[in-house]
Amino acid sequence: MTLALPPQDDLSGRRAAVTGGGSGIGAASAAALAQAGAEVVILGRDGEKLARAAQALGCAFKVCDVTDEAAVEAALLDGFDILVNNAGAAASKAFAKLTLADWRTSLDANLTGAFLCARAALPGMQARGWGRIVNVASTAALRGYRYVAPYVAAKHGLLGLTRALALEVARSGVTVNAVCPGYVDTEIVRAGVEAISAKTGRSPEEARAVFEQTNPAGRLVAPAEVAAAIVNLCRPSAGAINGAALAVDGGETAG
Ligand code: NAD
Repeated sequence: MTLALPPQDDLSGRRAAVTGGGSGIGAASAAALAQAGAEVVILGRDGEKLARAAQALGCAFKVCDVTDEAAVEAALLDGFDILVNNAGAAASKAFAKLTLADWRTSLDANLTGAFLCARAALPGMQARGWGRIVNVASTAALRGYRYVAPYVAAKHGLLGLTRALALEVARSGVTVNAVCPGYVDTEIVRAGVEAISAKTGRSPEEARAVFEQTNPAGRLVAPAEVAAAIVNLCRPSAGAINGAALAVDGGETAG
């Protein structure tokens, strides 16, 4: 059987929800999805920050902590064709100093939130016979890094969730994929630069170079580059890409 590519490959008529959409990769993804024709809603915890971002992006917003089951069910009730599970947080600490609260906070934000959002959004997608879930994992889903064990464990878990769910929904018109960015020029990396400077006395430029050098291209990834990968996974023509882990890392994990 030969399957023709869809004649129209934009996202017009599709409704998209982007968690953690008020900043960084989430805001860039919301902009790129809207540019591709989708009607976008950004979700996050801070109403004022979200309202400012939504105004700049020309999209709608809903206040929703992705770790709050009832809030997630309410926010995703309307029915979305596209879900970008982007909300996440990284905190750095030596393993021996980690508390159970540190561990739980990271797993909740980076893994359980995506589970709750996917579970809430999926029935509508399956009923309509079309859907796209893109989980923003990390190269930390593909390899280890020092001093961020809960984050690495959570992102490995998020890739596992991606693969398991992809198989489960494979016949329903829904795909589930992960993007795995290397270090991206956002608040998470800026906080990391400050932490390295404060702890080691290195200049901000030297601290930033620590992150840049992990990328064979010698630079940080731009949020718009991750957003472009996400949008491409959402296009109708990407219907056969399911359960993939797409590295957006300049080749960091190629070696
Ligand atoms: P960011 O801090 O700008 O974005 C994270 C967003 O998630 C923030 O808006 C934050 O408020 C939101 N968020 C966190 N916990 C939440 C919760 N419980 N409920 C709702 N919203 C919540 O940083 P970013 O770099 O744009 O991060 C976006 C995603 O990309 C994260 O999942 C992060 O792990 C992942 N990532 C980032 C990098 C990087 O180097 N910046 C690399 C790989 C993966």
